[in-house]
Order: sequence, then C-alpha cells, then structure tokens
Amino acid sequence: MKENEKDEINCLDKGFVRLVDSMGNDSSIVQAARVSYGAGTKTKRQDRELIRYLMRHRHTSPFEMVEFKFHVKLPIFVARQWIRHRTASVNEYSGRYSEMKDDFYIPEPEQIRTQSTYNRQARGDEHIAVDETNKILETLKNSQSKLFAEYQDFLSVHLARELARINLPLATYTEWYWKIDLHNLFHFLKLRLDPKAQYEIRVYGEAISQLIKPIVPLAFEAFEDFILNSISFSAQELSALKNAISFEKLEEESLKSYGFGDREILEFKEKITVLKNK
Ligand SMILES: Cc1cc2nc3c(=O)[nH]c(=O)nc-3n(C[C@H](O)[C@H](O)[C@H](O)COP(=O)(O)OP(=O)(O)OC[C@H]3O[C@@H](n4cnc5c(N)ncnc54)[C@H](O)[C@@H]3O)c2cc1C
Repeated sequence: MKENEKDEINCLDKGFVRLVDSMGNDSSIVQAARVSYGAGTKTKRQDRELIRYLMRHRHTSPFEMVEFKFHVKLPIFVARQWIRHRTASVNEYSGRYSEMKDDFYIPEPEQIRTQSTYNRQARGDEHIAVDETNKILETLKNSQSKLFAEYQDFLSVHLARELARINLPLATYTEWYWKIDLHNLFHFLKLRLDPKAQYEIRVYGEAISQLIKPIVPLAFEAFEDFILNSISFSAQELSALKNAISFEKLEEESLKSYGFGDREILEFKEKITVLKNK
C-alpha cells in the first residue's frame, strides 16, 4: 500500500476527496490477466491492447486487483446517493460519538435553477431570477444557522448526541473513508459521471477520476472509450440504424483514422456484419 496524503481535491464549497492509499496500477491488471492468458504481453503497446481487450469484453476481474482508499467530506444528501454503491467498504464519522460540526452545503448561485421539465429527477438549465436566488440562499443559510444553534442548545442541556443531531439538515457535511476496487469504481463513475446524475455527486466523480487517472492511465483510457463514452442501442434502434447507415463508407483505411487498433477493427467489422444481417 502506498501512503499518499497529499492527493486532495476540494469539492463543492467545503468538501474534498483525498486519495489516502492505493494498491496496484495498470501493470497489476496485466499481471492478473496473464494468469489466464499466459505470459504474452511485454511492451507497453501490448499492455494497452490487453487492457482494452479486457474492458471491451467485460473481463472485469483483473481490474479488481487495483484498490483505492479515499477520505471524503461530503453533504449528507450526496452521501445518501453514494452509499447505494454496495461494493465498497465504508467507515463514516459518527454523530453519536462526536459532535457534528458547523459545516453545511450552500450551492453556488449558478446552481440555483428550476425543476427540469423533461427529467422529473433533475434540475433544468433555467436560472431563477437574481432576487429570488438571493432569497433562497439567504433562507438556506438562516435555517442552517438556526438548526445548528438548536443542536448546540440540546448539547448544552446534556441531551445525548444521537438525539441532539436528528433535526440537522441533509446539507450537513459528513466524512468517511471509502475503499473500493477499480472495477467497482468504474461502475460508480459510469453512473455518477453521467449528465443525468445530480451535479453535486458528479463533482466528486470528477475529482476521483482526476486522482486515479495518473495511477491507471491505460485502464482509465479504456474505460472512457468502451464504457463511459459509449452507448448501447436497443434491437429496434439497431434496425433503424441499419437502414440509415451507408455500409460502403466503412472501409478499413477510414476506420484506422478513428484510432482503432487492428483487433478492434476486426471486432467492429464483426459487429457490422451482425447489424447487416439483422
Ligand atoms: C441517476 C440515478 C438515479 C437514481 N435514482 C434512484 C431513485 O430514485 N431511488 C433509488 O432508490 N435509487 C436510485 N438510484 C440508485 C440506483 O438504483 C442504484 O442503487 C445505485 O446506482 C447503485 O447501483 P448498483 O446497485 O449497480 O451498484 P453497487 O451497489 O455498487 O453494485 C454493483 C453491482 O453489483 C451487483 N450487486 C450488488 N449488490 C447486489 C445485491 N444485493 N443483489 C444483487 N446484485 C447485487 C449488481 O450487479 C450491481 O449492479 C439512482 C442512481 C442513479 C445513478
């Protein structure tokens, strides 16, 4: 395990992600894969091809050989979403054991937007009038201060900490240690970097990506190419595409210009044949 307390990125107004420990890198993925495919890979190019092959074919277990441990400070409403990812180990700050801090999330004015009209779960692109935005931010601040003052009053009469905290808002910051392997981290990032994920958790996804990219550059590139920036099509969508595509244009030469490797061209051609025969 590599101790590394310096890698920290600030998130939102008072949060952060800090990479505390990591185990392994791109070579650990290749080394694990060699157990199943034999000791064939030696050069960086071959390593890259192997990692891309594993990612394309969802051969996921070699990616589990790499692990990361993060220290995260995040608002409770973000933690509620984050904790749904069950494949990590978590240890959270205890409001029963310790006093909660006077730390609450206040969104940037830029984030004060209307309800989305097409996604019932999301905020839209439209801003709220400046006066109204200021009023909303002021109300958030005032009620956070009031609730924290009440919390302190409860503590001053020796009410148990586990009860004193129950009225604190979802905007209260908490902290945890979060340990996860790379395969499951990619799953987390795929879901939480998506534009449909809530902005506040996306900020943490982006920070985590920035911290891990230098450690697993080839795996991250493969994740971006085959998972993060790829989309899947339904059978009906494929039928519609089949009618619209000009197959003659998909020549080998032009394919190379897209950055395909040799094996990737062959696999793409196989997919095109499947599509033609649909
Ligand atoms: C944009 C967005 C909106 C969402 N909205 C809501 C919502 O409105 N309400 C809500 O409740 N949740 C919501 N969620 C949470 C979502 O339903 C998932 O719980 C969350 O994204 C974690 O995904 P996961 O289970 O795949 O991840 P993980 O828990 O990390 O699991 C990874 C994979 O392991 C397997 N796995 C893990 N545990 C089990 C198990 N016990 N049984 C079977 N397989 C398991 C599954 O294959 C799973 O995909 C939302 C998530 C996103 C990204």
